[in-house]
Amino acid sequence: MLDGEKLSHIVSQGCRHYQFSDAIRQRAWVEINHAALAHNIQALKALLAPHTELLAVVKADAYGHGVIKIAETVLANGATWLAIATLGEGVELREAGITAPILVLGATNTAIEIEAIAHWELQPTLCTIEQQQLFQKTMARLGKTLPVHLKIDTGMSRLGTRWEEAPLFIEAVHSSENLEIASLYSHFATADEQDLTMTHLQHQRFKQALAELKQRDIPLPKLHLSNSAGTILGQAFHYDLVRVGLAIYGAYPAPHLEEKVDLKPVMQVKARITQLKTLPPETGVSYGHRFVTATETKIAVVGIGYADGIPRTLSNNLKVLVNGQLAPQIGSITMDQIMLDVTHLTNVQVGDVVTLIGEDGSDRLTVDQWANQLGTISYEIMCGFKHRLPRINL
Ligand SMILES: *Cc1c(COP(=O)(O)O)cnc(C)c1O
Repeated sequence: MLDGEKLSHIVSQGCRHYQFSDAIRQRAWVEINHAALAHNIQALKALLAPHTELLAVVKADAYGHGVIKIAETVLANGATWLAIATLGEGVELREAGITAPILVLGATNTAIEIEAIAHWELQPTLCTIEQQQLFQKTMARLGKTLPVHLKIDTGMSRLGTRWEEAPLFIEAVHSSENLEIASLYSHFATADEQDLTMTHLQHQRFKQALAELKQRDIPLPKLHLSNSAGTILGQAFHYDLVRVGLAIYGAYPAPHLEEKVDLKPVMQVKARITQLKTLPPETGVSYGHRFVTATETKIAVVGIGYADGIPRTLSNNLKVLVNGQLAPQIGSITMDQIMLDVTHLTNVQVGDVVTLIGEDGSDRLTVDQWANQLGTISYEIMCGFKHRLPRINL
């Protein structure tokens, strides 16, 4: 049971900031397995040459895992850099006392953001000549120097100056008094595919930009190119740093990469049975009665729904584990609750734990299975679990 002090803690700070214990595994939660996380970091580091550093990508609240605890564990296990997408995500890490270098992957186009980046000692990505001018002007006004990371677009067609125009851009930053080039990087678009033609072409374009820097006598800074897929592909793509997101959380960018490194899933999603009942034949279940019992059916109500990140489009199509046994979810998924058909299960009780993602007995349910069913990628599933689910760090 919750004592008064813990209860006031939950009320005053909200679930998100509460130091979780068994006591509050009440309704539904996400379990984060830090031993698996540490294993993944070490397995990935084993792929790298000794001089290559591992940057852990912890944007989007560490792909939904809870950024502060994830950052602490990855840094304790050999990651030396962190990357986030937004300024706010960087400030959150600094406010938590994390001192590791932090790369901001997103673009910055205003002086106020540049001042905040300098204040919090974050390291921004510069993508264009216009940004170089604004950064130089702002840093000159502050009378400070800022380390910056230059983004070259070699084929992703997202952020960055295209590789053909890169030398002029790099030269402009190089000659900016208040900017110091900390690294030069690019990002793969298709490194998770079996056909690596485009990946090799992007690599070629990256090398072309480097060759032009040499010609102009601009010293080569730290270089990086690889996401999880590029990192798993091999050392030819690693350079000085690899930027690994998905793989540290124990998911693979594509099935054909599974044999190359042993990764363990970090996230499990669980909820409790809140009520059991027996329904007669021909009884509709949930909104719209999109499931109707054929025979007498024992159902379990479970306290988790689409407001927690269970996609409603999985209605009538989701399987979960109860005491190591598979049970189908039936009827529409509702905001806070789902129903299961537990007619054929043994020993089901109110309060039993239901595993939606994770392992129970000899079975495992994965984010990849959901992603395949939904026609999306595991990244989106992981990021989709809402903060109403406390993250319990194991
Ligand atoms: C998100 C991101 C990564 C990490 O990608 P994964 O596929 O999750 O490893 C690396 N680099 C950049 C620029 C990114 O935006």
